[in-house]
Amino acid sequence: SVTTRTASCSTSALARVTERYKALEMLDRFTQNLGTAVLSGRVIEGLLAEAGEIMHAEKAWLLAGHQHHLARFRLDDEATVREVPTELDLALTTGLGEAGQMFAVSGLVASEATEGFEQVMIARIRSDEADPLYLVVADRSGAVRSFDAGDLRLFETLAAHAGIALQNVGLVDRLRREIEVTDHLAAHDSLTGLPNRNRFNKTLDAAIAEKESVAVLLIDLDRFKDVNDTLGHHNGDRLLVEVGRRLSQLIKAPNLVARLGGDEFAVLLTDSATEAEVIRWGLEIAEELEQPFQLADLEVQAGASIGGALRTPAANDGPTLLRQADVAMYSAKGDHSQIELYAPHRDHYSPERLAMVGKLRAAIERRELTLHYQPQIDLATGEVVGAEALVRWLQPDGTMVAPDDFIGVAEHTGLIRPLTHLVLEMSIEQGARWYRQGHRFQISVNFSPNNMVQRSLAADVGRLLEQAGLPPQYLMVELTETTVMGNPGRTIEIMNALRSLGVNLSIDDFGTGHSSLSYLTGLPATEIKIDKSFVFAMETDPTAATVVRAIVDLGRSLGLLVVAEGVESAELASRLREMQCAVAQGYHFSRPLPVREFERWLAERAGAEVDQWVSGQSIEHTAQVVAPKS
Ligand code: C2E
Ligand code: MG
Ligand code: MG
Repeated sequence: SVTTRTASCSTSALARVTERYKALEMLDRFTQNLGTAVLSGRVIEGLLAEAGEIMHAEKAWLLAGHQHHLARFRLDDEATVREVPTELDLALTTGLGEAGQMFAVSGLVASEATEGFEQVMIARIRSDEADPLYLVVADRSGAVRSFDAGDLRLFETLAAHAGIALQNVGLVDRLRREIEVTDHLAAHDSLTGLPNRNRFNKTLDAAIAEKESVAVLLIDLDRFKDVNDTLGHHNGDRLLVEVGRRLSQLIKAPNLVARLGGDEFAVLLTDSATEAEVIRWGLEIAEELEQPFQLADLEVQAGASIGGALRTPAANDGPTLLRQADVAMYSAKGDHSQIELYAPHRDHYSPERLAMVGKLRAAIERRELTLHYQPQIDLATGEVVGAEALVRWLQPDGTMVAPDDFIGVAEHTGLIRPLTHLVLEMSIEQGARWYRQGHRFQISVNFSPNNMVQRSLAADVGRLLEQAGLPPQYLMVELTETTVMGNPGRTIEIMNALRSLGVNLSIDDFGTGHSSLSYLTGLPATEIKIDKSFVFAMETDPTAATVVRAIVDLGRSLGLLVVAEGVESAELASRLREMQCAVAQGYHFSRPLPVREFERWLAERAGAEVDQWVSGQSIEHTAQVVAPKS
């Protein structure tokens, strides 16, 4: 037997033979245990646990090459986890020949050395060029001496054995599948089964490196939080799964759809990603997500806001494209426009936007802003009862920049305060001038969310009114629902302070802020202004008319003045009058006009009857509500 033969050998030879015998024994056990692991479907776990134990190594991992990518699989509390390969892994696998290698880590890769390794050994399990497989062990456990050449030979034999054993029983495929499953789990979102952020980012990077046209669409559900809060997380999850299903039916390879997290999804377009195509895709996705979802016996409308960004010389990497799509998505949300493409002037990090901040600051200091006034008409009498002051930025060449193009910048920079102050000053002075001329209409001024945190605001308004000599009831401050909802405590405090001065308050863009109608009862407002989108929609959509009627009725029952904005036709004016909407504003009466033109307009229409504004058959029908002109 082996023992008797070794008895006659020298001590070192004895040690060698004992070692070889032990190695054989261990390899045998290794192969058997690997077989068991294969049967239980846990090849990687089995392989790593055995290799670690046999080599007395504290750490063991598997490096799997797959289509030029490398992944690291490691045992973590009995389960395999997939990790991004480290610098060490990359160093080990580049230039590795057929033979195994042993490295002293110190001096090899600093980051790993600091992790505490001293030594690693690497061996190939399979030398398939495209999908190589390496086994790595590191650090001797306990008091055992460090790895030596004999350990490396044993380790190589072990790896070769594993390779043959797996190959022989046709289990390489099994291992491959297991790697793929783990791979899939690491690259996919477990709820929807879609690729996850990690995978999306990698594919995006690869696309930027390889393809000409690349675009990203970021999709955020509009009412996910409502669903989650009212129908529970279970239904929230079901909604996300269904959204994922709809998106993956729509988006096919080479394009890619992923869930980035929460209710945020992303689409990568590499197939003719032109501006027109991105918009078309955005609209198609929006349309698909507009369709109701069936949840808990309810039809739920989720809706989505989508931002798109195209690769340009200035946006030539994944993070920039994603950030731009994010900026565009927030614009789409703010504007209720479903899809928007990235525009530098709406991006507060873009150089264009930063340049604009500087120019706007200078313009405010030099008082280069001007106000246009748009009349508001009493639908019962035809009288002008108000004028909304709308700011314009006067350029040195005489052109005007519309507020939508710079109010956002002001709101994001703090410039909104000096801007609002200037607008207040100019409009109150103009209002006082008109008041002295005998006109009795209110001047409406728009405030932004960041104005409603200034405690001194009401006092400032009071001082300006007094200096100009305009009675406070001739000033109307417009706040949007979103402004109020953003910071209700402080906003209502300031609203009350303004009210006690005698200033009137309007809720602008009413209906777009998702707050409940009954919420209004708690607000110290005196007016609601129905958003123009509802008024426009009345023309084609009967439900919009129902909504408008409901708002008018509610406002009236709360004793609020109801104003409709965006009235572009006589037809609409007369329908609103029928609904007993008190006041209307819109292009049908007049566009916003500079002071001189507004005054000319006022003079021309002096003495005009209400019938001049409200035409059609409904005039007779509503004749009785037309008060005689005083
Ligand atoms: P807003 O307060 O809802 O103002 C009404 C907007 O609707 C104005 O656009 C007006 O020109 C437009 N409009 C009025 N009638 C019609 C119509 O019949 N059809 C259509 N299609 N549009 C109509 P404008 O002047 O471009 O102002 C846009 C927004 O900018 C305003 O919406 C307001 O939110 C903001 N804004 C304007 N001036 C100021 C300001 O001084 N301060 C602040 N914070 N925001 C302002
Ligand atoms: Mg307004
Ligand atoms: Mg409005």
